[in-house]
Amino acid sequence: MPTDITNSVRAEVARRADHRCEYCLVREEHTGFPHQVDHIVSRKHGGSSAADNLALACIVCNRYKGSDVASIDARTGEVIRLFHPRRDQWADHFRISGEHIEPLTEVGRATVELLRLNTGERLSERRLLQSLSDYPGH
Ligand SMILES: [Zn+2]
Repeated sequence: MPTDITNSVRAEVARRADHRCEYCLVREEHTGFPHQVDHIVSRKHGGSSAADNLALACIVCNRYKGSDVASIDARTGEVIRLFHPRRDQWADHFRISGEHIEPLTEVGRATVELLRLNTGERLSERRLLQSLSDYPGH
C-alpha cells in the first residue's frame, strides 16, 4: 500500500510505542522485518494519517489486520470492533497467560482471532523471547 507517512512520523510512532507492536507487543528488534505504521481506521474507511489514528504494528499483525476495523464474533455472529491502540488500554482487553495472549473482552477476542495472535509460530517465538526476558509474562 502506498504511504503518506513520512520518516519523521514513522519515527515518532515507533518511539511512542516504545518500538513494540501495539497489538502483539513484540519488539521491533526481534522481528525479521521492520514494524509498520498501521492506520487504525484504514484510509479505505475514512481514517486519517494523523498521529491519533496511527499505531506501530509488526508485519504479521498488520498483514492480518489489513483494512479491517471489526470482525464477526464466532460465538455470537455479532460485529465487534477491533482493539484501538490509541483509545483502548492493552491491559483492559488482553493479558499474557504463558505464551498466549488471552482476550479479556469481546474486543480482545475479535482482535486475537482476526490478527491470529496465538498461532503456533507466534507462540514459539514468544516462548523464546520470554526465556530471554525480552517479552512480558515471564
Ligand atoms: Zn504484532
